[in-house]
This record gives sequence, structure tokens and C-alpha cells, in this order.
Amino acid sequence: MARYTDSTCRLCRREGVKLFLKGDRCYSDKCAVSRRAYAPGQHGQRRKKLSEYGLQLREKQKARRIYGVLERQFRNYYVKASRQKGVTGENLLVLLERRLDNVVYRLGFADSRAEARTLVRHGHFTVNGRKVNIPSYLTRPGEVIAVRPKSKESPRFKEIAAAAAHRTVPAWLRTNPADLEGEVLAFPTRDQIDANIQEHLIVELYSR
Ligand code: SF4
Repeated sequence: MARYTDSTCRLCRREGVKLFLKGDRCYSDKCAVSRRAYAPGQHGQRRKKLSEYGLQLREKQKARRIYGVLERQFRNYYVKASRQKGVTGENLLVLLERRLDNVVYRLGFADSRAEARTLVRHGHFTVNGRKVNIPSYLTRPGEVIAVRPKSKESPRFKEIAAAAAHRTVPAWLRTNPADLEGEVLAFPTRDQIDANIQEHLIVELYSR
């Protein structure tokens, strides 16, 4: 399975905004965007005026990077979103939010989507009582996401349970941090998705 293995902070510097890809570090003064607020590479400090296409491309890359999805899969989400009823851009974000790794992150059971993805891949979660180790699994209302009983005993999940108790979750989810369990109550609406993404630019890019 292909995955991005280069520097994570480089991705934020390229987009010029914090994408919050690294958990606690993103909120500290070690954040690379705070320290070096310019694009990476030899010409990163040059001023550049982006074309319309450039703006659309950057917005798409930003969304991809926030959710940790590679190009082909991201385009597949777009195709699926464009076939659904409603506004394509919003459908796209809802599909991305429904991914199991994102839901685990939103429930506070991981510090970042990258960690959530690893924990899911390693088989620490169940959906409605059945083990699911596919990060791209699309959750549905009524599904209960829980840490497997054996995994709850691990030191990492004990830390996560303590931290999750202080986190707020979006209104479309319900969480029970003490039992490391959460439920999808509904599909998210656009105003419940706090990603700083202008989805209409992504739709314009793919509609070219
Ligand atoms: Fe991005 Fe977090 Fe790295 Fe800052 S610390 S550049 S927000 S991944």
C-alpha cells in the first residue's frame, strides 16, 4: 500500500497553514509553520502569485493532506461525491469525515489522524463489535466504534482514555471516554466539519 513517507511538517509549510498532522507538537512552539513560515525548498522564500488553477490545486492538496489520502483515492471520493444528491463539495467532505481513521481521531482516541490510521491498521478497533482494520472504512449512523477489550489494557490506550475525557467531540458523534467507545449519531453537516477547506475550489479543479 502506497503511503507518504517524507517529512510531515513539510506538507504544512507547502500549504502555508497548520494542518495539525502531528498531535501535541502542532500546538507547541516547535511547530515548523510557526518557526519557518515559508514554503520548503530552495525557492521557498520567493513570493509567488498563484493562478486560478494554482489556488484550486493547493486547496485540493491541502484537503488530501489533512485527511491523509493519496491522489487516486481522493479522486475516487470526488467521483462518488459527484454522483450523490446535494452539493458535491459538501458530499466530498462528508465522505472524508466518515472514514474510520477520522472518526477515531474526532472521538479523541488518537492524537492525530496518522496515529488513528496506525491504530486502526493494527486492529485495535471494532465497529459494532467486529474488528475492522481498514482506515478508509466508511462509518454510518448507529455504528459503535470501540477499542478492543485487550487493547484497552495497553499503556497508550490508558493515556488516550485520560486525555479523551477532556476533549469535546463534534455533535454528530457521541463518546464514552471511560469505556473508549463512541457512536456515530448522524452524517456530519458542513457546519459541523471544522476543516479550513474551500471545497468549491476542489470541485472546480476536478470539473476542468
Ligand atoms: Fe504541521 Fe503540526 Fe508540523 Fe506544525 S507541527 S508544521 S501543524 S504537522
